[in-house]
Amino acid sequence: MRIAVLRETAPGEARVALVPDVVQRLAKAGHLVSLERGAGLAAGFTDADYEKAGARVHASRAEALTGAELVARVRRPTPAEIGEAPEGSTLVSMLGAEPIDALVPALAARKLTLLGLERVPRITRAQSMDVLSSQATVAGYKAVLLGAAELGKLLPMLTTAAGTLAPAKVLVLGAGVAGLQAIATARRLGAVVSGFDVRPAAREQVLSLGASFVGPEVTADYEGEGGYARPLTAEEQAKTRDALAAAVPQHDLVISTAQVPGRKAPILIDAKGVASLRPGSVVVDLAAETGGNIEGSKAGERVVIGGVVVLGPVQLAASVPLHASQMFARNVLTLVQHLSTKEGALKIDPEDEITKAMLVTLNGQVPGGTGR
Ligand code: NAD
Repeated sequence: MRIAVLRETAPGEARVALVPDVVQRLAKAGHLVSLERGAGLAAGFTDADYEKAGARVHASRAEALTGAELVARVRRPTPAEIGEAPEGSTLVSMLGAEPIDALVPALAARKLTLLGLERVPRITRAQSMDVLSSQATVAGYKAVLLGAAELGKLLPMLTTAAGTLAPAKVLVLGAGVAGLQAIATARRLGAVVSGFDVRPAAREQVLSLGASFVGPEVTADYEGEGGYARPLTAEEQAKTRDALAAAVPQHDLVISTAQVPGRKAPILIDAKGVASLRPGSVVVDLAAETGGNIEGSKAGERVVIGGVVVLGPVQLAASVPLHASQMFARNVLTLVQHLSTKEGALKIDPEDEITKAMLVTLNGQVPGGTGR
């Protein structure tokens, strides 16, 4: 299979879809990887690294795309970029939060197949293809570092000749992949950490990381399809917020990660809750891009509300591009293996459980005839 890797064009995007280590594995399996010159530089990988791994490095994007059957990218392509892909080829990328309808005419014009990486089903068999998990791991880690850098306090307890410093208190809301990584990172930095989630299974995971569990009583009822949280009713949401209201002001740094797939993120701290934090406290809202868990947070912005710093980082994993790319590339590798025949040819089976869930278009057509 001929696989093309292009330089990412989204502003601030430093990741790359395949790293040299993965290129080497693909080359060993008989695949041919063409790279646009400089595609890995921002993530810390040189063209020479790729060449050593067996890739062909091309001076232009058009050359890298020539003859490609599969084009691997991190972020969704623009309609213009879709127009550059070889007719009938397959694109693999994340789709992002924006509706994908705008891409469909360009995909149809070139009879392209687009597989959305966020759509990998959350089943054990597909776990190693799951970019949501790999990138959330990085984002959860980095959220703590961002928050710590804004905080006027140190995270660990220190006993020094100049006195004893109490450890900072960190609250993590939503204990899924990103939240659990945030808890682990804050604990490693010496903070006293609490967590909250509506899924009962998350409680045990929070406790097993040495954090305490705050908030309202959790019942099995909150767990929805595929192990995700289901949307709460307005009454349940109000109950959650009220119960959290008592815990929130005790904390210096709040990291929120709560999401409900396909919906606007739930508000977990309203304006009153933000006002209850001490000035100088910091909130990092990882859900800002999908509506936010914190009232007043803005996607991609740093706002100060009554002395409380509220960060709404987007695509945070891109700020740790080397390791984020390494994990992303492993996810793509497993997908390529899944899409390969024994002879190494690309085969898109629209009836396969994993492929079917990921298909945006198949040969330019939206499966079932409607946009999703
Ligand atoms: P996510 O990003 O959709 O949500 C993050 C967390 O927010 C979740 O833990 C969710 O329960 C929580 N949340 C939602 N509404 C909330 C509310 N109102 N208040 C507080 N918390 C709220 O989820 P995720 O981190 O991607 O994963 C969630 C689950 O899926 C976990 O159980 C995880 O283990 C599982 N998972 C399975 C696979 C797999 O099997 N392939 C892969 C990844 C994750």
